[in-house]
Amino acid sequence: MIKENMTLVEANIRKACEKAGRKREEVTLISVSKTKPVPQLLEALDAGATDFGENKVQELCDKIETITQPVNWHMIGHLQRNKVKYIVGKVKLIHSVDSLRLASQIQEESAKRNIISSILIEVNVAKEDTKFGVMPEETEELIREISRFPNVRIKGLMTIAPFVDDPEDNRQYFRALKALSIDIKGKNIDNVSMDELSMGMTGDYTVAIEEGATMVRVGTGIFGERNYNI
Ligand SMILES: *Cc1c(COP(=O)(O)O)cnc(C)c1O
Repeated sequence: MIKENMTLVEANIRKACEKAGRKREEVTLISVSKTKPVPQLLEALDAGATDFGENKVQELCDKIETITQPVNWHMIGHLQRNKVKYIVGKVKLIHSVDSLRLASQIQEESAKRNIISSILIEVNVAKEDTKFGVMPEETEELIREISRFPNVRIKGLMTIAPFVDDPEDNRQYFRALKALSIDIKGKNIDNVSMDELSMGMTGDYTVAIEEGATMVRVGTGIFGERNYNI
């Protein structure tokens, strides 16, 4: 099942890239494995998965310890400052940084280990009350502040688009995030690159790719529906 799903997602990614005149290599598929047991991740690895996204620190750490194959791990969920110490040095990228205080904690823990941590800034591009993320108009200021941390590197922006029935409804937000990233790139802030755009989930990743996503986060489309009651 997972293998078939991945084949389908892969075909959709290729189609979207073709439609947008982009190369397949420009887009990283992050398989969002939250709530899913390790054997299913191993199945995805067998089917060609390279990158896994998790949103809970404990679950992420357990899976990192259990799975010995080389995997790029992504922290995509809201991160509390007191849990930063558990993931720094273990994940390729933290997608969900939306405050100076959180970035400062990542700086502190990275400095202790003498490493540099890569992060994305989460932007609440649709300005939803229920979502984490910095407001678009406050993003540049936050990036300027974080850019002063020597052990943190900002690689780009991330957003969680609204839950919609028609993915076309989210095109405006993906476009807005891309525009914001181009705008900030143009400011040439030291230590900041705007090469990554993490946007698009199961319902809308093809639209996100058309609008410039470099990372799509697909959970249900690969692993099936999640059951939070187990
Ligand atoms: C759960 C989750 C996803 C994947 O959602 P699906 O709709 O299952 O593809 C992507 N990004 C984040 C931040 C998530 O928490």
